[in-house]
Amino acid sequence: MIIGENVSFKKDTGLIGAIEEALSYNSNTFMFYTGAPQNTSRSPIDLENTKEAHRLLIDNNIDINNLVVHAPYIINLANPKNYDFNVSFLKQEIKRCEMLGIKRLVLHPGSHVGLGIDTGINNIAKSLNDVLNDSTSVYICLETMAGKGSEVGSHFEELKQIIDKVNLKEKVKVCIDTCHMNDAGYDISNFDQVLTEFDNIIGIENIYCVHINDSKNLINTHKDRHENIGYGTIGFDNLLRVIYNEKLKNVPKILETPYVDNYPPYKFEIEEIKNKTFNENLIEDIKNFYK
Ligand code: FE
Ligand code: FE
Ligand code: ZN
Repeated sequence: MIIGENVSFKKDTGLIGAIEEALSYNSNTFMFYTGAPQNTSRSPIDLENTKEAHRLLIDNNIDINNLVVHAPYIINLANPKNYDFNVSFLKQEIKRCEMLGIKRLVLHPGSHVGLGIDTGINNIAKSLNDVLNDSTSVYICLETMAGKGSEVGSHFEELKQIIDKVNLKEKVKVCIDTCHMNDAGYDISNFDQVLTEFDNIIGIENIYCVHINDSKNLINTHKDRHENIGYGTIGFDNLLRVIYNEKLKNVPKILETPYVDNYPPYKFEIEEIKNKTFNENLIEDIKNFYK
């Protein structure tokens, strides 16, 4: 099982700090934003730190190919406004991933801001065509969205349409998010059927990342509010079936569940996942451990 969580990548500790945080939760992969998720200010990658980090990964049996970077969510390729900035930012983000040795870059497709879904899809594909070139060694993983506001990509068909319009489509993959799929109307309690549908539309081999989150909201509510595993409307057993699905065995699973009283829940959630046992005292255990 390849399981990890969203960790922080800080200016001073870089990739080493991210690895150490992930190890403290007993995970064997992780995801991070190369700077703040909500803005695009980025510091240069420290090469010395990165070199040492690569040794640390080997020492701890973490396969660098399973690590994930998440692009900042204010990048909106569906909106032609700030087009040049978005394209150049994304090119730089790919360069940062390449310098770090990371292969998987998760990207929210974007919001069409009233321009209509088809225009949104066209704009996203056009941007990706400007961003990708033959030497790009990173996979852009388009994330399945909850369908909040005018988000593009809440249905597999929309992601398929984007991919179809990209010239270098072998470089575009998908990140499925359990909270987002639930909120978009996919029934995670019948995950085999969801996966079959995905396979028929996009092809299951294109799933390069799975975000594991419970949802605060009911199916098809288009909200996007993550919940700790087992504490939301999807439920622990349904999420376990996603995590342990044989067809997704080699795909990194990443927790993006909310902090509890400012403490990270991941060490305890990973324990629950490994033990296949729901922890009804999660909140108390987290508070007792970190306080
Ligand atoms: Fe995301
Ligand atoms: Fe996600
Ligand atoms: Zn989300």
